[in-house]
Amino acid sequence: SGPLSVKDLAEKMGREVSEIIKKLMLLGVMATINQEVDVDTATVVAEDFGVEVVEVEPDEDPTEIQEIEDAPETLKPRPPVVTIMGHVDHGKTSLLDVIRQTNVTASEAGGITQHIGAYQVRYNDNKITFLDTPGHEAFTAMRLRGAKSTDIAVLVVAADDGVMPQTIEAINHAKSAGVPIIVAINKMDKPGANPDHVKQQLSEHGIMPEEWGGDTIMVPVSAKQRMGIDDLLENILLVAEVMELKANPNRRAQGIVIEAQLDKGRGAVCTVLVQKGSLRVGDTILAGTCYGKVRAMTNERGEKVKVARPSMPVEILGFSEVPQAGEIIDSVEDNEARTIAEKRIAKQRVQELQSSHKITLDDIFNQI
Ligand code: GDP
Ligand code: MG
Repeated sequence: SGPLSVKDLAEKMGREVSEIIKKLMLLGVMATINQEVDVDTATVVAEDFGVEVVEVEPDEDPTEIQEIEDAPETLKPRPPVVTIMGHVDHGKTSLLDVIRQTNVTASEAGGITQHIGAYQVRYNDNKITFLDTPGHEAFTAMRLRGAKSTDIAVLVVAADDGVMPQTIEAINHAKSAGVPIIVAINKMDKPGANPDHVKQQLSEHGIMPEEWGGDTIMVPVSAKQRMGIDDLLENILLVAEVMELKANPNRRAQGIVIEAQLDKGRGAVCTVLVQKGSLRVGDTILAGTCYGKVRAMTNERGEKVKVARPSMPVEILGFSEVPQAGEIIDSVEDNEARTIAEKRIAKQRVQELQSSHKITLDDIFNQI
């Protein structure tokens, strides 16, 4: 709340200015019509006139964008977003590549040509979005910012190698994020493949296969021989259907920055996963302290896109600076972007100053 003049106070209370001035005089305050009064004085005057004064909640954080509550009837089904996780060399990249190639229809000749950190495939008339980022890092970076990027985690375990340290790490990440796991037991073509051993090991870590009375789907696959891929995709859609994933496509867009880098010719290039609303060319956008206007959007096939709806990944141009992966991106009013970005920068400075201050104090104490 800004400064309050005698005139404002009179208006708020529905009294004559002269009445207020008189009351102030009785309180020993000589005031004119445009004079400012402090909160305490105003409260005393108001209460004298029998007006109850309520304390107002402090203003919302000006660095935050006000969240829109989407009414249930505005929610429409959206494709699942899947992250592939697992131990190094167990076949994450191979699996992502095979899925990418398998589900390219004839009309999409040329297939997925761009690496934009995420892609969407169509399978039996359903879409599935895959995040093609180093699983764990993406997960942690995004979770640090309180963002949730993934609906379903596919945990890849090599059938000849079994559960390894990063397998357990992945299980923990998915569990603490509350994301359901589907296990892909990969490298089934290998002579040493032992899926039962993998299941046994996973059970010891609380991941029990369905056929043993648990609730985790485990699909044997071979990325190398393109075996079991349909089965895996069908199961992803099955799990997604049960989850009833929905979002409101008709509101201002909100999403998450999957990747971003500076391109010499094109400036800041940023892959965004739209999570709510629809992102359009021309929209004013804000991610962390970076803002801009969407100049162009392309999909993973390098095709121009005018509108990106929930669960769709797009590469966008138009940020004035490079935002960080994991940052939440909002489409905002033209006049909001810069103001909020500047407030965020100021807030960051204060926090940096405070933390550097603390270190200095610690240093001093350490020297005593
Ligand atoms: P990542 O580290 O999890 O991304 O694993 P990669 O996809 O890079 O695979 C590691 C190695 O395993 C590569 O040499 C792949 O060719 C091989 N590989 C991946 N999937 C299979 C598979 O299904 N069968 C066999 N025999 N080898 C595989
Ligand atoms: Mg890899």
